[in-house]
Amino acid sequence: MGNESDLWKRTLKVLSFDSRVDGVYDAIIVPLKQVHCDRKQIILEARDTYSLNILKGNDLNSIISEALNSVNGAPITLNFVLKGDTKSINSTKISAARSRDDEGENSSNLTEAYSFKNFIVGDCNRFAHASAVAVANNPGSRQRNPFFLWGNSGLGKTHLIKAIGYEIQSNNDDIKVLYTTCESFLDAFIHCRMGDDYDAFRKKYRSVDVLIIDDIQALIGKTETINEFFNTFEALSAEGKQIIITSDKAPSNLIEFDDRIRSRFQSGILIDIQPPDFETRKAIFLSKIENDGLTVSDDIVNYVCENITNNVREIEGAYKTVTSYMAVSNGVIDLETTKALLMPLISPSSKKKVTPEMIINSVSKYYDISEEDMTSTKRNAQVAVARNVAMYLMRDILDYTHDRIGKYFGGRKHSTVINSINNIDDDPELKREAEEIKKRING
Ligand code: ADP
Ligand code: MG
Repeated sequence: MGNESDLWKRTLKVLSFDSRVDGVYDAIIVPLKQVHCDRKQIILEARDTYSLNILKGNDLNSIISEALNSVNGAPITLNFVLKGDTKSINSTKISAARSRDDEGENSSNLTEAYSFKNFIVGDCNRFAHASAVAVANNPGSRQRNPFFLWGNSGLGKTHLIKAIGYEIQSNNDDIKVLYTTCESFLDAFIHCRMGDDYDAFRKKYRSVDVLIIDDIQALIGKTETINEFFNTFEALSAEGKQIIITSDKAPSNLIEFDDRIRSRFQSGILIDIQPPDFETRKAIFLSKIENDGLTVSDDIVNYVCENITNNVREIEGAYKTVTSYMAVSNGVIDLETTKALLMPLISPSSKKKVTPEMIINSVSKYYDISEEDMTSTKRNAQVAVARNVAMYLMRDILDYTHDRIGKYFGGRKHSTVINSINNIDDDPELKREAEEIKKRING
């Protein structure tokens, strides 16, 4: 989380503290639904024309826009559509996609914002950073060509490879660097085929000294484009040109790429980037505070960095949320408010993950009945109660389908599972026991 998918949710929190929207917050702002969001644009759906007209009015429109921009950390276009008006949702989406195409590949993509200077080094990325610096200082050296960087989303891959490009470009007028996303490569390839203009395509990608290609996994399933990419790759490396690739999977897991390509990916230097440890998260958060000249108390910094753990992008999201609140509250924020603001960002995945086995185990302990008995076909009343409670909890906590639940209990039928769960639903005492077990499971 902490990305586009919950931008509106986070902005809503910030708006709830803005007294300028007091009169319309509950009736008009809260019911808005985010129906689309990408880096450039967010589309919110209003439930009726009355709300839509008010929202489109200048004042409210600009207050919401302002909040969205600050939570997003970058300007984002805001559009409102009427609920159910799919036609206008689609046409606004298409125009957003067009504007995105223009920036997938462009040397001006390489800016100081994504440079080594702004990259915080910690244990999680020390080796990746050092190798990236080495490539920037000596592009094309056989030791590190190709440079293949992989790891989960939000860990700093794009930042690091752009930093390499920026560094090379800043220090060498005569080295031609091209940064491209796989989407633009794919797009360019499709276009050249439609117009049969392979020459222009090849010239573009093969005349560079450093080719940086981001998110190679996006080519999965596009066999012809993969082949074309491989040809580009081979042509460039034959001339000793530097190739830099990122992926959210290790090369060995890019199973849709054939063996010869995967082994070529691994023929230079292969680096994985790890999720940030606490120290790095804190250093990143503190550097942002310092850059913006703000003061945030230690307990808040620690709370954020202890609870937002998955990746750097989420840390940035939390930073934006906290500071956008501060912007409307004279720079003041306390720990309780921080907790409330960050609630949507603290993803369920960072809470304890409950499994069916954990449920069966806890229920078995609570009723002192063995797990084998519970999952058997025994009809004894005590065993049946325990089994019903376990089924009830699987639906309640895991939201499993009846068929799926049945599989854990000797392949019981859909209708049997429904009956078992109803037995608990209808019995307040058993329901209370189930709640008690649930508390223990969630610990
Ligand atoms: P990825 O490409 O791995 O999904 P990004 O490079 O887009 O991740 O990083 C997500 C955000 O986190 C970017 O805004 C980036 O600047 C920032 N970021 C990641 N790692 C660091 C770091 N070590 N220091 C400073 N900012 C970082
Ligand atoms: Mg990236």
